[in-house]
Amino acid sequence: MITVTTLGTGSGKPTPERNVSCTTVFRDGDLILFDCGEGTQVQLTHSQHRPGTIRLICITHFHGDHINGLPGLLGTLQLNQRTESLTLIGPEGLERYVRTLARLGVLGVGYPLEILEVKEAGVVYDCGDFAISAERLKHRIACWGYRMTEPDRPGRFDLEAARALGVPSGPLYGRLQRGESIELADGSVVRPEQVLGGARKGLSLAYCCDTQPCEGVGLLAQGVDLLVHEGTYAPDEGQIAHSRGHSTMADAARAARDNGVGRLIITHISPKYMRTDGFERQVREIFAATRIARDLDVFELAYTN
Ligand SMILES: [Zn+2]
Ligand SMILES: [Zn+2]
Repeated sequence: MITVTTLGTGSGKPTPERNVSCTTVFRDGDLILFDCGEGTQVQLTHSQHRPGTIRLICITHFHGDHINGLPGLLGTLQLNQRTESLTLIGPEGLERYVRTLARLGVLGVGYPLEILEVKEAGVVYDCGDFAISAERLKHRIACWGYRMTEPDRPGRFDLEAARALGVPSGPLYGRLQRGESIELADGSVVRPEQVLGGARKGLSLAYCCDTQPCEGVGLLAQGVDLLVHEGTYAPDEGQIAHSRGHSTMADAARAARDNGVGRLIITHISPKYMRTDGFERQVREIFAATRIARDLDVFELAYTN
């Protein structure tokens, strides 16, 4: 299962209702952050996650509401005596940004920091368990959207079936799991499909923030289980939204509908809206599986087989 938490769902500046951008993805013991606005580490203390589990932080762009929380969080990890390496992904200039803070004494980081600057669209990180790819979004400054994709995994091993076929426990199990046919002592052959269930489909999600509608969104969102998309403005405020490099909540819903997405979470809400329930009802007419997120909302993505 993957757990997605919207730590901060506001745009521009923090308010008592909404902190600025950060969405976390927790899978297999590791926490991945998408954006790190001011106050992210405070929000983290209100969530079920611990900073020690952070493995990767993906920054979309250098607007303050997406990165101003990074120095504080990196400093806290040092205070917590972190020793494991941490990977940062972001636009060109990220390395200079972190090194400058270190040189000024703002940051003293003793743990290994791997900084990957995105220079072109495509896969930027692949650890085998999942890959992160990036596409250009359309905003006022250079901005990358991200997609996390898990590979499909082999089917479950059916121990009962293996025993019934007379396969002795031990290395032959491993060979079958790797997709090899094996020959037993009596000369009979057991094929992997006799003991393995169907392939288990990996999960995928996309994070598109900040952007006006553009091709990059479609490339990232195509067929994902979950799309996290900005919806800074009300559904009918397209003109002002697009002139400022942003989307409306209706744009987000159309992106989900047009790209075969499973579920949609709308985030990066302008602080001028005190209530969003009416907007949510409106955009659900475009794409039913939509939620306008609140801070610290938790969404679970389960494997289908
Ligand atoms: Zn923003
Ligand atoms: Zn921005």
